[in-house]
Amino acid sequence: MTKPTSVDGAALLRWVELQLPEPPWTEAEPFVGFVYLDPQAGLSAKGGRTGDQTHIERPALTVRLPIGVPGRVLGEEEALTRGLPTTPAWLSFYGPQPPAHGPWRVDPHLRGKFHPQYPDDLQVLVHDGEPRRTGKRTELCWVRVTGEDRGHATPVYVGELLSQPHALVTVKAGERLRFIAATGCRYPLYVTEAYLDERAGWDIGACPSCGLTETLDPPSVMAATRFPDLGEAAPVTFTAHCAQCGPPHAQVVQRRGG
Ligand SMILES: [Zn+2]
Repeated sequence: MTKPTSVDGAALLRWVELQLPEPPWTEAEPFVGFVYLDPQAGLSAKGGRTGDQTHIERPALTVRLPIGVPGRVLGEEEALTRGLPTTPAWLSFYGPQPPAHGPWRVDPHLRGKFHPQYPDDLQVLVHDGEPRRTGKRTELCWVRVTGEDRGHATPVYVGELLSQPHALVTVKAGERLRFIAATGCRYPLYVTEAYLDERAGWDIGACPSCGLTETLDPPSVMAATRFPDLGEAAPVTFTAHCAQCGPPHAQVVQRRGG
């Protein structure tokens, strides 16, 4: 029995089964397709309904991935039992494929940042939040990229923290964390869920030195750090030292529509 799993870049060059909500067939059958990288459209799966073997080499449907539906990667043995080839012949139309895992390797935001021998590992700037609040500096740690967290305005990546930070207390080796390829930042930047939730509601002025347009804490937390007694009445515009350059370089943070 294959364990159910989310279908993302880790499924590259594997057969997957997806429970499509409105498949273009009437039979109550899942979609089975082969996951490949389309140079224009990105990660995709081609196939058809499970019960029709002709869809293996003449796919009836293309699904763009990742997709928010239940799905799983078929194990090698299961694929063999179902008569699915290791690689369908149509794959050659899509040009050379990357190794079986890791579409993030070809992401223009991350390209060139990976370790040459370990193609899924890169260094991420991790932190406990704004040093002014936490008293902790940022640290550079190795992260093994495992995927992308879709549904954000800009790409958000997910990875496993490989090295133990020296002084940080909110992130530990082995944990899954999110990071972004921040404008102006030499390294990808660790972001929290709370930060991502708030980010679209604020304008963060570029650091005059490096151009960074991100902060470490969610802006509402930064406002509370600066004006602890004001609560909701805290000013909607304030300044912060750049997370990358430190003092005296400052960014102007302003709530949108504030
Ligand atoms: Zn800066």
